[in-house]
Amino acid sequence: MLAPGSTIGILGGGQLGRMTALAAARLGYRSHIYTTENDSPGVQVTSTYTVASLDDEKALAAFAKKVDVVTYETENIPLKTVEIIDKTVPARPGAHVLEITQDRLREKDYLRSIDVDTAPYREITGPEALARALHDMRQQDASQRAILKTVRMGYDGKGQVTVRSDSDPTATWAHMNGSLGILEGFVDFRCEISVIVARGLNGGIATYAPVENQHANHILDTTIAPARIPPETAMRAEAIARHIAEKLDVIGLLAVEMFVTQDEQILVNELAPRPHNSGHWTMDACYTSQFEQLVRAICGLPLGSAEAHSDAVMRNLIGPDVARWADWVTEPMTKLHLYGKHEAPVGRKMGHATRLIPKRD
Ligand code: AMP
Repeated sequence: MLAPGSTIGILGGGQLGRMTALAAARLGYRSHIYTTENDSPGVQVTSTYTVASLDDEKALAAFAKKVDVVTYETENIPLKTVEIIDKTVPARPGAHVLEITQDRLREKDYLRSIDVDTAPYREITGPEALARALHDMRQQDASQRAILKTVRMGYDGKGQVTVRSDSDPTATWAHMNGSLGILEGFVDFRCEISVIVARGLNGGIATYAPVENQHANHILDTTIAPARIPPETAMRAEAIARHIAEKLDVIGLLAVEMFVTQDEQILVNELAPRPHNSGHWTMDACYTSQFEQLVRAICGLPLGSAEAHSDAVMRNLIGPDVARWADWVTEPMTKLHLYGKHEAPVGRKMGHATRLIPKRD
């Protein structure tokens, strides 16, 4: 167990690193942020930080010597970076989790191998493979749609394009910018939900209730907690998330994004082994936030209760939305979180506001 007073290394200085450092400080831990940018949101709340690139081996080795454990705010980190750190201190969750979750194809293959349902998918290596897939779509049902995604580095809908059976394969492939692709059947979902699981060093598990996620322009806009789904569906979703966290041997957090179909089937879309935007509501509405659970898990402390004392609606403040901060701050039951970013271009996550709704007995 790492006692309070120890130093947590955080790879990434964005809002997730910032909120992890704040939760760590409350429990008496120090944080050292490793970031590629000066004055990033994380650096603003920590006294020790390193500004260097993720492939700067000297800086990484020096960072690892100054901290007691390392975690990260994104899965899109070169494995080499984690391997260098792991020679000196444990990186949690480990490289084996990153390896799977930073590659959509591996992730889906892995999910299938542990009997978790996903949308139908196939690997697309180039325009010829895409032409063959479109041909198959025309044979099966010409009205079908599909989504072509880059296998790596996709987030917030980046590197994605909707495909119809009569789409032009060469023009469509151009969106992939030379990356490998995965073609997924389009899911006509009733709603999108996510479940966040925390798993400690001794294997203990705490699961947050499924929440409902609504997107605008492919970016999370609103999270409704709890999700408006039948209790039986919620139980199944939680069981699926726990199953994946256990099989992957996650130490830390795992966010599992899922589709609930019209006939109440659950299909897993994506995994994120880190704090997740759809878990920000837990900071104000649960006994233990996702960030505190992460700190507890990687330091070997017992996990806290993931139970919610309030229902909540979390709204992301994206780009120019943040100019309305003064409206949010006047609402007595709304908790405003701003990330300290200086510029607010369209699409940038600047903060969030969580409206709390007392639970009815
Ligand atoms: P992703 O980057 O995979 O999380 O996708 C971003 C968003 O695109 C999801 O939250 C869904 O709203 C939508 N989406 C992704 N994959 C599919 C799919 N196979 N069928 C329908 N919608 C999808």
